[in-house]
Amino acid sequence: MPDLESSPAASPPRAWAEINLAHLRHNLEVVNSHQPGDVMAVLKAGAYGHGMEEIAGALEALPRDIAPIFFGVASAIEARRLAHAGMQTRIYLLGATCPFERREIVAYRWTPCISSMDEAADFNRIAQQMIPSDKLKVHLTVDTGMGRGGFLPNDLLQLQDKLEKLAYLDIEGIGSHLPCADEDEAFTRAQFEQFDTLIEELGAEKFRYIHLANSAGILGYQSRHTNLQRPGLMLYGISPLATNQNELKPVLSLKSKVSLVRTLPAGQGISYGRETVLAHDTQVATIGIGYGDGYPRSMPPKLASVLVNGKRCPLLGRVTMDQIMVDVSSLPDCSSGDEVELFGENILVSEIAQLAHTIPWAVLTAITPRVTRVYNP
Ligand SMILES: *Cc1c(COP(=O)(O)O)cnc(C)c1O
Repeated sequence: MPDLESSPAASPPRAWAEINLAHLRHNLEVVNSHQPGDVMAVLKAGAYGHGMEEIAGALEALPRDIAPIFFGVASAIEARRLAHAGMQTRIYLLGATCPFERREIVAYRWTPCISSMDEAADFNRIAQQMIPSDKLKVHLTVDTGMGRGGFLPNDLLQLQDKLEKLAYLDIEGIGSHLPCADEDEAFTRAQFEQFDTLIEELGAEKFRYIHLANSAGILGYQSRHTNLQRPGLMLYGISPLATNQNELKPVLSLKSKVSLVRTLPAGQGISYGRETVLAHDTQVATIGIGYGDGYPRSMPPKLASVLVNGKRCPLLGRVTMDQIMVDVSSLPDCSSGDEVELFGENILVSEIAQLAHTIPWAVLTAITPRVTRVYNP
């Protein structure tokens, strides 16, 4: 089979994502400007659609004083991908582990967060079998309101001695997670206080790493004890809050090209369902991207727009799998091959998410493999 991609006749992609690695570094510096201590870069879900191995490689290549000390992933498969890519940064599993993942975690010395006595005892037993002359470094996780994992604070106070006696575990850290740091300030303040108080009761000196904040927590709150931050969204240049966006630089721009430009007459229907019918003669551009690339199908015609040659042009009709249509009447010179930004530095993914009734995390992670990722230093 000939290598079609490197053949001289290979076409460039119709839909691609430009990923600006200088902006990634800038955003990491913003994390450091808000909070002291170390950083766990959250790389789950393909680094929020940016490409896990590439983002990890770029972060690992940063100078030591700024490079993250942990990479946060969701599963053993994601951890393995980073390990196979040759990453040296410690890997942390952000959620409760499934029993069938634990042997691999121990074998590779990845760092799990532990939610229950059962999980702790199982890791202790596996570590005794697999690495008897060593200890597995683990973090405890506390449920201070998320309801997704972790010891309840009172249970942890009761179980502390028992956990510390597990001979093959080194309880190196403790963390918790914020369910509404971008939505409920009073609850989140109380949660920080509850976490800090618990740390004081357990003994802050017992833990090398203490962590609570995601992006919204980093931007909006302070703890008395945390020394490790877990940014996801803000690392990719998007603020989860109504504030702070001006400090950050979006890393990813989703782009495509105009494939066709035509003037269509009044009365012409546009796209499936013919919900949009042209009121007057309109210059319509067809663009080579659709929901099969991750541009949300729920984008509302007329309200949503894309950037063609630097100018916002309204979406016409429903988003189809591979193509969308936009009104380029304001761009008389628009022609096939012109560049289009769907979102990125000029149209924030937050705006897209709002129009599509979803969240920026979901829009970014929905960019499909068909979209070529292009990395710029
Ligand atoms: C995903 C995740 C984060 C990152 O959240 P952002 O809001 O994207 O910053 C941090 N901590 C945990 C436990 C997570 O699951």
